[in-house]
Amino acid sequence: MRRKLVIGNWKMNGRRSDNPALLSSIVHGTERARAECVVCVPAPYLAQCEAVLAGTSVGWGAQDVSTHELGAYTGELAACMLVEFGCSHVIIGHSERRANHCESNEAVGMKAVAALKAGITPVLCVGERLEERRAGRTAAVVSAQLEAVLRLIDPSDVAKLVLAYEPVWAIGSGQTATPEMAQEVHAHLRAHLAQKHAEGAATVRILYGGSMKPGNAKELMAMPDIDGGLIGGAALIAADFLAIIHAAN
Ligand code: PEP
Repeated sequence: MRRKLVIGNWKMNGRRSDNPALLSSIVHGTERARAECVVCVPAPYLAQCEAVLAGTSVGWGAQDVSTHELGAYTGELAACMLVEFGCSHVIIGHSERRANHCESNEAVGMKAVAALKAGITPVLCVGERLEERRAGRTAAVVSAQLEAVLRLIDPSDVAKLVLAYEPVWAIGSGQTATPEMAQEVHAHLRAHLAQKHAEGAATVRILYGGSMKPGNAKELMAMPDIDGGLIGGAALIAADFLAIIHAAN
């Protein structure tokens, strides 16, 4: 049985003065949680995460990683740097980065490789835009995004991935995929993973992301292939984030 996983994506939010209170609330609120919990914060706050979260059951990570190991890449974050700050996870291929930074499927694949090489779990985001869904291309779009990663990694590394299905039209919009719509895509993704490594595919957590809130989390996570959530807006409010984690329990 796959343990549920709830990841908070803070995006470009947080304040140095406010973060410790939010992080401590998450620690205290998850002390007896069965679900696993991770927060992915802006890079300048990774040291704060390490200070507050080390030794607790809450993990932390970043929101992007460079395809390069080290060198003349202004503004980028090397996987080895994330390791230095104790990151367990890194989000890759978030739709905001694909759209705003022109990240190609191939670049996202190389980021997955960089993270795996450093021993960090890549949280691979895939998802279709509204016009792609309307054109009946959802399965093809998410498969192409996934395949760009699978073709670069060893089959035995499939089990080291976390996937997040995030329909682009649902992110930050208040519009959520129905549990049935999400389940259909999650099952498709798992079947695609199984073509590369059947045993790995059975253990990979596939999270749903896109306006997941306390009010809809339980029914989404009750679906057989929805193994948790990637949470944006609601991850910034301790009570909401904890309610989602408890729904996952
Ligand atoms: C996200 O950006 O990963 C996300 C799911 O955002 P929100 O929960 O705000 O829709």
